Amino acid sequence: MEAGKKQKGAKRRHRPASNEKPKDERVGGNEEERNPKASKRRKSQGMVSNSSSFLDKMKAKLSGGHFRMLNEKLYTCTGEEALEYFNDDPTLFDTYHAGYQEQMSHWPELPVNIIIKWLKDRSSSLVVADFGCGDARLAKSVKNKVHSFDLISNEPSVIACNMANTPLGSSSVDVAVFCLSLMGTNFPSYLNEAHRILKPRGWLLIAEVKSRFDSNTGGADPKKFTKAVCDLGFTSVAKDFSNKMFILFYFKKKEEQNSKKKDIDWPELKPCLYKRR
Ligand code: SAH
Repeated sequence: MEAGKKQKGAKRRHRPASNEKPKDERVGGNEEERNPKASKRRKSQGMVSNSSSFLDKMKAKLSGGHFRMLNEKLYTCTGEEALEYFNDDPTLFDTYHAGYQEQMSHWPELPVNIIIKWLKDRSSSLVVADFGCGDARLAKSVKNKVHSFDLISNEPSVIACNMANTPLGSSSVDVAVFCLSLMGTNFPSYLNEAHRILKPRGWLLIAEVKSRFDSNTGGADPKKFTKAVCDLGFTSVAKDFSNKMFILFYFKKKEEQNSKKKDIDWPELKPCLYKRR
């Protein structure tokens, strides 16, 4: 080897001074080496600086834990309680959504993109209501008029409300969308509200996490859920189980409504709790 030329891998073989701990030991291993894919992904999302420090990792762990706590909270309280909770401290909504986006970055396909494609294949004159819109990606991606609802509004187009009570008039929209948003213990009241604001023959699209409908792990029976939605006044048009992470239900509001209101037997929808990564 030529003198002065750097030896390949020389950096890794550098011995630290005796009072200096090896870099890898300090941070519990170099992430790029342990998990190059994850490291590359996070870097490309601008989530980690090159000198990913111990402090950064601790912060990430804390915010991951905070996200999981907020997520569990949303699945185990009513919409009314969730609204109060976020109104008390709206920054919690940002914490929740940062964690949500991180989780979603591991999904091979996002249900919202399937819904966007579904809408793009139809007339842009259809008026849409997006229940639990998050960052309003749906409204930003289609030409349709979209009424976006969520607990907190970070942009002018989003209406902040508990989606059990939206400000829209009865029979005013063509498509109601719930994309991973049937979170509250009172979720039937959200579907009730969608039924109210939908025009006759209007579409109801529901995307939900697959595990919530996996009867092997305590999830609801999709047939029972479908029957309950039909009892509310819908016809089931299609179900799509082809995706690994979520399922999609397509319903249409019945033209003629049954004047006799039945007691609907709703299945319980268990919370979707995300694992620590
Ligand atoms: N539909 C978006 C966001 C899904 S996260 C997407 O697919 O990316 C679920 C969203 O539902 C969260 O933003 C949460 O705040 C909202 N949400 C849950 N319960 C709600 C309620 N009662 N009223 C309004 N929004 C609600």
